[in-house]
Amino acid sequence: MSLLGYVFEKVRDDPFWQIGTMYTVMSVLIGVMYALGLTHPYMVWDMVCDSIVQSIQNSNAQADGDAGDSRGNSTLSVGRSVKIHGLRSERGRALNGKYGTIVTELDGETGRHGVMLKGGRILAVKPGNLTLVAARPFSGEGRDDVPGPARSCDTVEAAREKICGACERELPKDSFSEEQGRLRQSMRRCKDCLAGGTELVLMKTGRTRSEEDECPICNLPLPFDDGEVMLKVCCMKKLCNGCIFAARKQGMRNCPFCRAPVPDEESKTLPIIQKRVDAGDPIAFYALADAYRYGLHGAAKNIAKAVKYYKRAAELGEKDAHYNLGVLYEEGVGVKKDAAKAIQHWEAAAMCGHVSARYNLGCVEKDGGSWDLALQHWKISATLGDKGSMEIVRSMFMGGQWSAATNSLESILKSLSEYQSAVKEMSSPDRHKAKALGLDAIRWM
Ligand SMILES: [Zn+2]
Ligand SMILES: [Zn+2]
Ligand SMILES: [Zn+2]
Repeated sequence: MSLLGYVFEKVRDDPFWQIGTMYTVMSVLIGVMYALGLTHPYMVWDMVCDSIVQSIQNSNAQADGDAGDSRGNSTLSVGRSVKIHGLRSERGRALNGKYGTIVTELDGETGRHGVMLKGGRILAVKPGNLTLVAARPFSGEGRDDVPGPARSCDTVEAAREKICGACERELPKDSFSEEQGRLRQSMRRCKDCLAGGTELVLMKTGRTRSEEDECPICNLPLPFDDGEVMLKVCCMKKLCNGCIFAARKQGMRNCPFCRAPVPDEESKTLPIIQKRVDAGDPIAFYALADAYRYGLHGAAKNIAKAVKYYKRAAELGEKDAHYNLGVLYEEGVGVKKDAAKAIQHWEAAAMCGHVSARYNLGCVEKDGGSWDLALQHWKISATLGDKGSMEIVRSMFMGGQWSAATNSLESILKSLSEYQSAVKEMSSPDRHKAKALGLDAIRWM
């Protein structure tokens, strides 16, 4: 028998030879493509790995009696609880096994859902990396008892457990008092945390302003008043009016940060924003949403588009977008009125140091009858430099409307004095002059 005949027979009958041949042919093909400059071998290898992983995931899901990829998509919808799996990037792998709630519908452009993890972080995840688990809503009384689709062993586990808002552990339901068990996830504490006085993550995070809240020229924290800040679409940086005023005084009309010329017509702004949107800049999504919401830069008002882009910006972690979505859900503008969703978005924003979101959470607690919790929120927004919050904290303090058990005298006085330092940090001679002149005067300087 010739060598060729021997090889042919082996390939026909022996699975190992079949696999070997397949790999040999593929390697030669990849080699040829690489030689022709069509691709890099690793790219092809990645594609092959992706398709293998995907097919294994699909067959696993079907073996579990779970919905496969194609059918699974239709059951993944906003409000459903999910578990993340199969992410392969270095950062993604750390997220496998985590639970979350779907907060945005499937985005047609990116093919991803927004998934909010406990703690408020929102990720964009493909449907193939999500498995439905039993309902575990962030808010709403007793809704943890609603049975989800009974499929995998995850389901049983999730229904029996609740997440503590302080230690963030998933614990059996009897680890919570009846009263705490009725609270939404971000507000409830397990018996251990309650006894040990462990603070809620919601109250521990977002107590300082982030770096992106600084003017990149003078490095001072930006004022809260939108009228004292300008968003430059050329570089998507928020600059304080003080720095714009200082630049104009020296005859510079270009952007004082990136030196790009300022568009001479309002209608030229929208294409600049769109270009940054295409590059995936979260602030650009936010700016585009604002343009559609208020009809800026020649855009026709379109609240549905505004909501869509706020959601994209929020998925990318833009806290202003979370705040605005909260307002729209609260008022039922462009979306179905939903107080629970409003709170979710404000919590996400507040935990990134958003001062108005924090203030609103205080109002939510006050309206719910808990002045103690309201004061905890307002102390934080006062510390960040919000005048309205400081005034409420001061009058509650003077009127004796506080309980030392939850808000110590020391913590109240500290928030009032930190308010003063925060305000001081936000002011500069140029900012004062700019404020006195007014925005229009600076524009036409
Ligand atoms: Zn706990
Ligand atoms: Zn500045
Ligand atoms: Zn610029």
